[in-house]
Amino acid sequence: MSGNSYSQDCPRCLGKDTLMCNNDSRPHETINGECVCCGYFYYTNFSRLDKDTLKQIRKDYGYKNKKLTKKQLENIKDFDLNYGVKE
Ligand SMILES: [Zn+2]
Repeated sequence: MSGNSYSQDCPRCLGKDTLMCNNDSRPHETINGECVCCGYFYYTNFSRLDKDTLKQIRKDYGYKNKKLTKKQLENIKDFDLNYGVKE
């Protein structure tokens, strides 16, 4: 088990233990929650940066290695399929 489920008070409707929450550490930290009283919800979003933004953050963080290994390329393909964000 890499995740946890719990309830807490809702910050929107102030319901006592009405916010049903989950978190997980795989494949990276994720969180989500939904209030059974008022319908408020939040979740970790999965997506990809556009090319210009990616270029900018590589510059900001000083990341220079742009060549991916075969293993990395295969993982990216599988990861995108698993999370439904393939373009
Ligand atoms: Zn609520």
